[in-house]
Amino acid sequence: MIPFLDLKAVNDRFGDQISRAINRVANSGLYIGGPELDRFENLMKKITGAPEVVPVANGTDALTLILEGLITLGQLKPGDEIIIPANTYIASFIAVWRAGLRPVPVDADPLTMNIDFSKIEDSISPATKAIMTVHLYGLIAFDPILIDLKNRYGLVIIEDCAQAIGAKSIIKGLCSNVAGGLGDVAAFSFYPTKNIGALGDGGAVVTGNTQLAKTIRTLANYGSDRRYHNIYKGVNSRLDAMQAAVLNVKLPCIDEITMRRIKRAEKYCHLINNPLITLPCSPGSGQHIYHQFVIRTQDRDSLRRFLYDNGIETDCHYNVAAIDQPCCSGEFKGDFNVTRQIAATCVSLPIGDHLSDGQIGTIADAINAFSGSGPIN
Ligand SMILES: *Cc1c(COP(=O)(O)O)cnc(C)c1O
Repeated sequence: MIPFLDLKAVNDRFGDQISRAINRVANSGLYIGGPELDRFENLMKKITGAPEVVPVANGTDALTLILEGLITLGQLKPGDEIIIPANTYIASFIAVWRAGLRPVPVDADPLTMNIDFSKIEDSISPATKAIMTVHLYGLIAFDPILIDLKNRYGLVIIEDCAQAIGAKSIIKGLCSNVAGGLGDVAAFSFYPTKNIGALGDGGAVVTGNTQLAKTIRTLANYGSDRRYHNIYKGVNSRLDAMQAAVLNVKLPCIDEITMRRIKRAEKYCHLINNPLITLPCSPGSGQHIYHQFVIRTQDRDSLRRFLYDNGIETDCHYNVAAIDQPCCSGEFKGDFNVTRQIAATCVSLPIGDHLSDGQIGTIADAINAFSGSGPIN
């Protein structure tokens, strides 16, 4: 069986560096804060081009703290509306709810599967204060339309970079062209399955806004600006030294890790030629870093079963859209046809660092041999 993802194999690529890093922390007596966190911040600054990095406990906290930080600074207030892609992992929505704000989902573009930029303006109301763009599956979701809307409506642009560390935009004239440096502030996740994964949870906020970074750092540390002095009713959300040490082994290898994923995706695109299959768009120049390689087909369940019977495990991101989850109780009434179509037809192929070249060939051959549900007789 070719597994969808084998995290042990992914981490074994780093030899004994990860266990050495863990031992170093275990023997240091410093488990919260310390030099591993300083090094982590510097590595993230280098990768994103953002001047400020605040390590936090996970990606959902990173997004939530960004919104709570903006509320604390008076740039948002409870009840404000945040534009968000309908096609995203539900954690993007959860952050908006947790901050006491209202998510306003916008349908996906059928080509990119990211937010449809042309549909955002229709969803803007006087209560709209920010756009959370999500670089879903690792594909940059940033367009000059966002900058135009930001300027005309005075919106904050938040990037959810949980799936897009190292992805690059080709839009010129921004402070940085890397995911996390495109908008005003960005969230990253280091959940074990992400392109750069810890051995547990981890996250970070990056921004060029020094005041926002300082506010988020304080909020994440019990609202404490100095020892036993609490200026906000904050939370405890920290990246611990052990996870930072693991990430410090992986982050310097980001370019190779990303390049290997792009190579595997290009190989899939080159080999898969079944007319029943829609391949993900592949804009090149590092704009897509393929956190997931998502193909689409009408008879999705048959394809998954066929591949499974051929020894290939697949996944589905996501088979029920966030807006249709039971917790939403049908509260979102707009037109989400594209998002629902994606949820009904998507299949994620294995794309992780556990795969060999030969296995990619095997998977592509199996997909090319798929003939739908076959003739009915
Ligand atoms: C994983 C993910 C998150 C949440 O990150 P966690 O570290 O799991 O909390 C948020 N948004 C997107 C798009 C994600 O894929």
